[in-house]
Amino acid sequence: MSFIEQWLHDAVPALVGGEWRTGQQTFAVDNPATDETIARVADMGADDTRDAVAAAYNAGAAWRATPVKQRSALLRRWFELINEHADDLARLMTLEQGKPLAEAKGEVIYGASFIEFFAEEAKRMAGETLPSHGADKRLLVLREPVGVVAAITPWNFPLAMITRKCAPALAAGCTVVIKPAEATPLTALAAAYLALEAGLPAGTINVITASKPAAVGEVLTTDPRVRKVSFTGSTPVGKHLLAQCASTVKKTAMELGGNAPFIVFDDADVDAAVDGAIASKFRNAGQTCVCTNRFLVQDGIYDTFVAKLTERVNALKVGDGLAEGSVIGPLINQAAIDKVQRHVDDAQGKGARLMCGGKLHTAGEHFYTPTVLADVTTEMAVADEETFGPVAPVFRFKQDSEAIQMANDTPFGLAAYFYATDYRRIWRTMEALEYGMVGVNEGLISTELAPFGGVKESGLGREGSHHGLDEFTELKYVCVGGL
Ligand code: NAD
Repeated sequence: MSFIEQWLHDAVPALVGGEWRTGQQTFAVDNPATDETIARVADMGADDTRDAVAAAYNAGAAWRATPVKQRSALLRRWFELINEHADDLARLMTLEQGKPLAEAKGEVIYGASFIEFFAEEAKRMAGETLPSHGADKRLLVLREPVGVVAAITPWNFPLAMITRKCAPALAAGCTVVIKPAEATPLTALAAAYLALEAGLPAGTINVITASKPAAVGEVLTTDPRVRKVSFTGSTPVGKHLLAQCASTVKKTAMELGGNAPFIVFDDADVDAAVDGAIASKFRNAGQTCVCTNRFLVQDGIYDTFVAKLTERVNALKVGDGLAEGSVIGPLINQAAIDKVQRHVDDAQGKGARLMCGGKLHTAGEHFYTPTVLADVTTEMAVADEETFGPVAPVFRFKQDSEAIQMANDTPFGLAAYFYATDYRRIWRTMEALEYGMVGVNEGLISTELAPFGGVKESGLGREGSHHGLDEFTELKYVCVGGL
């Protein structure tokens, strides 16, 4: 893809109102596998952000008036272009984020699927007529776009977190200002470039890149023209943005952190559970919000599960995401490595048994050896904090009620998983888990067809499915009288 090759040599501009804007300043985007700078990107500030909001606001009236079949066709073209450029986008993603190329390609396909889905779903954005309270009146409910949407996204899914917000927003007739994570702005810019290529009008999609997100965030959360802030990232930043949004009473969607439990009951198919564990825990080197953070395993199956899991984890190939066969790439930066090592040291210091890993990998400074810890207890940091790395801590429980209590004993409530075969246990557990998403005998649950989101401090709102479109619409009740 020529524009990407060009970018990797020049300073990469941001996108404001259909214009590619270079900043006075730039910041470096580094490859986490090698620490080499792969590009420099425009470092935008509050004024640029206000310009982007103005561009989105000004483009809004024409976009919402564009017939839905035309909006849908433009989104469909965007979807096709992303798929046509899937290999280049995947390579770019691996370069800036580190995930293995096959996973990056998977994310491109997954990210594009939201555009395809919402291009169709927009056609079903229907209002209602309601029974009336008077013979001379008719009651209508119109479904209208919210207005300008700010999309603030994390580095761990550089494309999918953007399409999951922008596709339903644009489909509903909203316009967007994207603020991608400072570690991974290139994939976001490439996606926006393809949106313009697809024919989305200038100003409908804007991208503000910044090394210091607070100034940009301040504008996006306080400018009255922005009507919705859709954020994916950590819980502390989400709380901060939520508070900032209060002054102009914005609608918000908050996709925040998790502390996912993965319960294995005595009656589980242990091989299936180990397959699910590998998929859930080690995807993206453990840097996924729905990643298992805690394995809770019943006494009778504990030793078998730990032995089988350790064997599989030992065989995971670590290396540069561009190298053939790598399944575990680097962590995003040094702070991520430090946190993982702190969790492992803390657990070992409090009596956990190291089954494998527990140290940096020889592949480089940002690579961590996939790790299994046994005899983990609730006094250890891994019980409460999101590790966000390739570490599988295995807790032990005896009674089912104990597992449920441990699983729910966290302020988070994003995803939970469990493996069991008894149908009564399956129903009881499914209902008792205080989570927004539950995988039953399944370790990978994300799809554009289902509502993704959390409860408690894991957030507000849902992305994906028809619920994801509703998030970008307002209801307008109209009472027509005097008939
Ligand atoms: P982060 O909260 O540090 O950053 C997320 C985004 O917010 C980035 O774009 C960052 O630049 C921006 N940001 C930070 N401070 C800001 C401010 N003051 N104003 C405006 N923007 C600001 O999170 P991260 O480290 O990029 O991502 C990892 C976290 O994201 C983990 O906690 C993970 O669980 C969570 N996450 C959640 C989901 C979900 O769907 N629930 C999905 C992926 C990641």
